[in-house]
Amino acid sequence: MRIDVYTIFPDIFEMPLREGLLGKAIRKGILDIRVHDVRDYAEGRHRQVDDAPFGGGPGMVMKPEPVFAAVTRSLGYGMDELGELRERVRVVMLTPRGERMNQAKVEEMAALEHIALICGRYEGVDERVIEHLCTDTLSIGDYVLSGGEFAALVVIESVTRLVPGVLGNEESLVCESFSGGLLEYPQYTRPADYLGWKVPEVLVSGDHGAVERWRREAAKAWTMKKRPELGGREGGGGDVL
Ligand code: SAM
Repeated sequence: MRIDVYTIFPDIFEMPLREGLLGKAIRKGILDIRVHDVRDYAEGRHRQVDDAPFGGGPGMVMKPEPVFAAVTRSLGYGMDELGELRERVRVVMLTPRGERMNQAKVEEMAALEHIALICGRYEGVDERVIEHLCTDTLSIGDYVLSGGEFAALVVIESVTRLVPGVLGNEESLVCESFSGGLLEYPQYTRPADYLGWKVPEVLVSGDHGAVERWRREAAKAWTMKKRPELGGREGGGGDVL
């Protein structure tokens, strides 16, 4: 899978893309992630990427020209080829005004070959970028960040761990939270008794059937307590989150 990221703060991505499973998958060539500095595509001596909003109001807005130039030129398309670009690449604007991210969206994106993520700053990006360059808008939740970089990293991390070969143990995807409409059951490890706090007896019983049943019930109970809108039923019930 290829992911191109557009940002005015490319250094933010250095460590997260170097460490852990993500870094390993990049080094193995399973993922091709390229970070582009939008400022490199800005014109003028000051390489200005922002300007005051038309109509007044606080803050600045990211200008359209450097963003269009960064995406089209880095991907090898002309400004007269935006239709083809949008057909071949999923171009996503990260914005709190976007469609809210959930596991169903993550699964859909994990099947794509090529994604471009545009990170806003200031008051956001000129709307013509959304209208004429982007195919999607995505919000990682109902709160406002100062920039799209951490949102892009959330998208990268959640989407790429579903790409075959990225996770060491793909089996762990099967019973994860949201995978079957429930949040996951509680997990415990050694020691079985820590300061007098014991793990549930059934987990050390060696009875695999009883462990399965306990986990299913614990997952339902936790889901009903923390996220009742999910329905607490396996295989769905309530909105997929
Ligand atoms: N003025 C915008 C609004 O009220 O909708 C908020 C702009 S925010 C300060 C700057 C940038 O952070 C956005 O352009 C976007 O790229 C990113 N951002 C902030 N919150 C986000 C979220 N929940 N999901 C995705 N991106 C977000």
